[in-house]
Amino acid sequence: MSSKKVIIIGAGHNGLICASILAEHGFDVTVVEKREKIGGLTDTYEIGGIKLSRASYVLGLMPKFLINKFRIPTISLDPVEVIYYKNKIVIPLWKDESKRLRAMIDIGEERYPELERKIFEFKKLLYEKFTFVSKPPSEDIVFEEASKFGLEDFITKTTYQFLKEHISEELIDYFVYPSLLDSPAYVMAYIFSLDWLLVSGGMGKIAERIYEYAKNKGVKFLLNHAAIDFKFKESKIKQVITDKRTLDADIVVSAMSPLSLFKILNYNIITLKNARWKKYNFVLKEYPRFPLNLKPYSYSLITTSVGEIVFPSLMDQQRDGIVLEFMGNLKELYKIFPDLEEKIIFVDGLDASKAIETYGIPFGYLDHLPMKHPFLFDNRPSKDFNYTTPIENLYQCSVGTYPGGQVSGVQGYNVANLIVSKYKKLDQF
Ligand SMILES: Cc1cc2nc3c(=O)[nH]c(=O)nc-3n(C[C@H](O)[C@H](O)[C@H](O)COP(=O)(O)OP(=O)(O)OC[C@H]3O[C@@H](n4cnc5c(N)ncnc54)[C@H](O)[C@@H]3O)c2cc1C
Repeated sequence: MSSKKVIIIGAGHNGLICASILAEHGFDVTVVEKREKIGGLTDTYEIGGIKLSRASYVLGLMPKFLINKFRIPTISLDPVEVIYYKNKIVIPLWKDESKRLRAMIDIGEERYPELERKIFEFKKLLYEKFTFVSKPPSEDIVFEEASKFGLEDFITKTTYQFLKEHISEELIDYFVYPSLLDSPAYVMAYIFSLDWLLVSGGMGKIAERIYEYAKNKGVKFLLNHAAIDFKFKESKIKQVITDKRTLDADIVVSAMSPLSLFKILNYNIITLKNARWKKYNFVLKEYPRFPLNLKPYSYSLITTSVGEIVFPSLMDQQRDGIVLEFMGNLKELYKIFPDLEEKIIFVDGLDASKAIETYGIPFGYLDHLPMKHPFLFDNRPSKDFNYTTPIENLYQCSVGTYPGGQVSGVQGYNVANLIVSKYKKLDQF
């Protein structure tokens, strides 16, 4: 098969997956990464030997076959999540369906089973028809297919409208970030998972394992190399210019934010306000005192109306210390754990401006672009620029493309397969 030279820009998990699969098929792959380390937003960092997941912290949307292929060491949670309702009532989302539904019905959420049923039916449809694709689907096509099963509300209704029909208003904030309430219910269903996993050793382990796999398949890595320009010949990219050297390329895959790609191409077509979120990573002397009813569930992902809390070190021996990871409002966290401040050895806050600086994600969006219109389906980041682009040998595979957010690896997988099938066909001539 082809030994075409592929340059992949960015060693986030999507770039790494794309590189691994292309190398498996005989492509000559080099990954250029502007940071001194691989992983992008799947990043473990160490403070005094204690391991923290700096940005992303739980894995819920990566297909099982990719987790197995790359031997990602995961730890499952049961209950997978605990809703700490009004900072008083504990609602465990057990793996066991009847226990889970019972917990919801017990607090008066009689319509909840119907919500879950619809979400799972819709997710099944997304997985079977609209996940492993060579071309992102349009919203119309997903709508048409969903309508056949009476699931069109996921496209036509907002998350807020949809949830309000199935759960009480006060519970809505526990199901989705407030910033996504006006996104189509499709986005809520896409993110919903009863399979959140911890990654042993922190999220950086995902990148580490895929990197090892890629290295074994012959992928070359150039760290501390930022792509800054392209050289074109007959409207194809012939060379990728980094801040340190120039590399020949037959095929180029951008695995960085689409906005970073547009900057290199001088297409300043998208301007956004900086995202608003905060993530805090703590190293503690000892665990804080848990509210009594929450204590039995300390081993789970704790969802409050103001953020998500996880003590990964309770489940993961590899952390080598006591670790708390929290995404949300710090003042509210201290209300739940009043003695927390006394226990802190180290705390690090990450927000959009720090993420822009550290991870090079323009405007600091968790998933490179908001999970909102207009950046959904084949319009992510735009109709012309999704997996393929108007430049014949330029592709994209970051979370800034369909299906969008979270650590799933689907984009890296899809784009690698798209390139393999295109060049296999060309080889047959
Ligand atoms: C605080 C936070 C919490 C999150 N929590 C979760 C979570 O718990 N679970 C979950 O599933 N998702 C979570 N996410 C989202 C998830 O982390 C991202 O969507 C995902 O990791 C993005 O992966 P990627 O490979 O597409 O891109 P990135 O991980 O962003 O990788 C892109 C890579 O490109 C490199 N790069 C950029 N520009 C250049 C250039 N010019 N030249 C060379 N290299 C370049 C970057 O340095 C980076 O390594 C979170 C995100 C954040 C910020």
